[in-house]
Amino acid sequence: MTKSKLEYIWLDGYKPMQSLRSKTKIVEDFSGNLEDCPMWSFDGSSTEQAPGNSSDCLLKPVAVYPDPARHNAFLVMTEVLTADKQPHSSNGRALINDDDNDFWFGFEQEYFLYDPETNMPLGFPANGYPAPQGPYYCSVGAKNAFGREIVEEHLDICLDAGLNVEGINAEVAAGQWEFQIFAKGAKEAGDQIWVARYLLERTAEAHGVTINWHCKPLGDTDWNGSGMHANFSNTTLRTCGDEKTYIKIMEAFGANVKEHIDVYGPDNHLRLTGKHETASINDFSYGVSDRGASIRIPVVTVEKGWKGYLEDRRPNSAADPYKVAAVIIKTVKSAL
Ligand code: ADP
Ligand code: MN
Ligand code: MN
Ligand code: MN
Repeated sequence: MTKSKLEYIWLDGYKPMQSLRSKTKIVEDFSGNLEDCPMWSFDGSSTEQAPGNSSDCLLKPVAVYPDPARHNAFLVMTEVLTADKQPHSSNGRALINDDDNDFWFGFEQEYFLYDPETNMPLGFPANGYPAPQGPYYCSVGAKNAFGREIVEEHLDICLDAGLNVEGINAEVAAGQWEFQIFAKGAKEAGDQIWVARYLLERTAEAHGVTINWHCKPLGDTDWNGSGMHANFSNTTLRTCGDEKTYIKIMEAFGANVKEHIDVYGPDNHLRLTGKHETASINDFSYGVSDRGASIRIPVVTVEKGWKGYLEDRRPNSAADPYKVAAVIIKTVKSAL
């Protein structure tokens, strides 16, 4: 008999950003398959998900990955259900209308590594600022790249867990990094981003470093904020070969700005200013190759004769990828 550790991961009910929670279940002779992960429960009154006098919430397993950093262990991503087995109001995954996995998503998750002592990014002195932005993006060398050992360790764990990370890079601000994850299926893309966030928190914790997910942690300065660009496609976008269809979809986005911004992450008005490769939160724009637009039409999409994908540049680093995917799918479907 082998005893396995199953780490059940869920999103709590905190606002404006939900935090990751997890606890360990010991299971005998676990197969590694999702159907063999039992339902579980937790005290929702400790996570802003239920009142104390009726506190049980349910954890429904939706994805399982090996956990390479622990012995005999697995990571079990779950959805939160109420005691009567309905999706909890905090459950963004349940909003995704993509049962045939027709939507492909590639999320570019940016974040800052923070020193909990100074409450500033790695690479920042305790008081004041390092040299201005310029040398840090995709940098090498101890003068400009800060925290690489954490980033590398995180990448290896993600890949060994089977997450489809497509790349990593040092970002524009000191101590700021990015990873990209792509999946065919919106729910799976969201699951993988959340599990990768969990693994990043856990890796950084072991190094005494925290993750700052805020979209503009350095406030109104000349330091870049953090985004989570959402690259997306469905069969229509991948195969239509027709500029008019793309424009029709863009117009549906243009008519639905508020519903999108509402789930594109807290405090996004601080980041979507029109500076630092962003569009203003009050405008909607799209353009080929345009990194100052709300939605960029990648030049490869045009070169392939309007067959490809789109990049919504507005979602921020603290947005819930489930809710972002859900509203994008809704708007694309409404246009077709
Ligand atoms: P950039 O930094 O130039 O915006 P990245 O290379 O960081 O671009 O990210 C581009 C993302 O687009 C990747 O995650 C990739 O998987 C994703 N992507 C590429 N093709 C498609 C597609 N057809 N549908 C959805 N996402 C896609
Ligand atoms: Mn990128
Ligand atoms: Mn980036
Ligand atoms: Mn991008």
